[in-house]
Amino acid sequence: MKCSACKSSNAIYFRKNEGVALCGSCLIGNLEDKVRRAISKYAMLKPSDRVAVAVSGGKDSLSLLKILSRLTARFPDCELVAVMVDEGIRGYRDRALSAAKAFSEGLGIPWAMTSFRQLYGTDLDEMAASRPGSNPCSYCAILRRNALNRLAGELGADKLALAHNLDDEAQTFILNLIQGGPERAARASSPITPHRPGLVPRIKPLSGIPEMEIALYAHLNGIPISSSACPYGRGALRNDVRAALNLLELRHPGIKHSIIKSARYWGELAQCASRAGAKSCGICGGPSSGDICKACAIAEETRRRGIAVGRPVSPRAGPRPTQARSPPSADAGP
Ligand code: SF4
Ligand code: ZN
Repeated sequence: MKCSACKSSNAIYFRKNEGVALCGSCLIGNLEDKVRRAISKYAMLKPSDRVAVAVSGGKDSLSLLKILSRLTARFPDCELVAVMVDEGIRGYRDRALSAAKAFSEGLGIPWAMTSFRQLYGTDLDEMAASRPGSNPCSYCAILRRNALNRLAGELGADKLALAHNLDDEAQTFILNLIQGGPERAARASSPITPHRPGLVPRIKPLSGIPEMEIALYAHLNGIPISSSACPYGRGALRNDVRAALNLLELRHPGIKHSIIKSARYWGELAQCASRAGAKSCGICGGPSSGDICKACAIAEETRRRGIAVGRPVSPRAGPRPTQARSPPSADAGP
């Protein structure tokens, strides 16, 4: 089958929901163009933004770093810095972060790193051991989000870019509907979070791109794809939701896009509502929907279990992160 775009090369991928076949080079161009259009449509970036890109070492975050480095190349005042969090998962995250550092350096992008140990005085392996039978993802995700926000804040970032893809977003929306309620489902669905005190606005440039296309993009660009998975898994319910959505997509191509379209509509409504209800955490001063933010609540609980934890601090007053190089200066290019 020939590529529907260039009409000359052999297609390597068929995008069922659009009825379009693409060769490798047209897939790369098409995917980057989709991301560029999403950034523009949702006003995710300004030409002079300092963008902290959350990099875990997986194919999605490394692809995001590559795409943003290409898209921002013609904006000399836009700066990228790769931000990393070491949760303390022995044999897994340490290896992924080594690959992430090397990849960032290969692109000429500075990186900065912090860790659960540095911020909370303990790591995920210890926390999981102290909570037998718990799902580590439930507290890991909250602490990781908090750590990324603090690191991005310390670096003076204007935006924090996350590599959530279409599959992640659709799964999270359904999971939140099941477990967190419609308000949380709507809040998490927006491709850009609103400005709130203590919260670096989060953008999700890949949220309209299926995981399969990002995997192909990574492969075609020689981006390392790790085969190792987190030893804690991603939770039984998420796995079931993923399997159900994949089956639905197979039978009804485009259904994940439809879910995200509805989710974004809800997200817009939720943004209006959340502006009225924004609060600050009584312990760390960071953004919170209650009197104490979730990261501080987890730290308090961990302290009660007898594991020493560092006192949570506000996003711009915390300990300096470990850095490979100095934070980018205001006049440095990406
Ligand atoms: Fe953390 Fe769960 Fe992701 Fe592992 S799979 S890194 S425990 S959120
Ligand atoms: Zn082509």
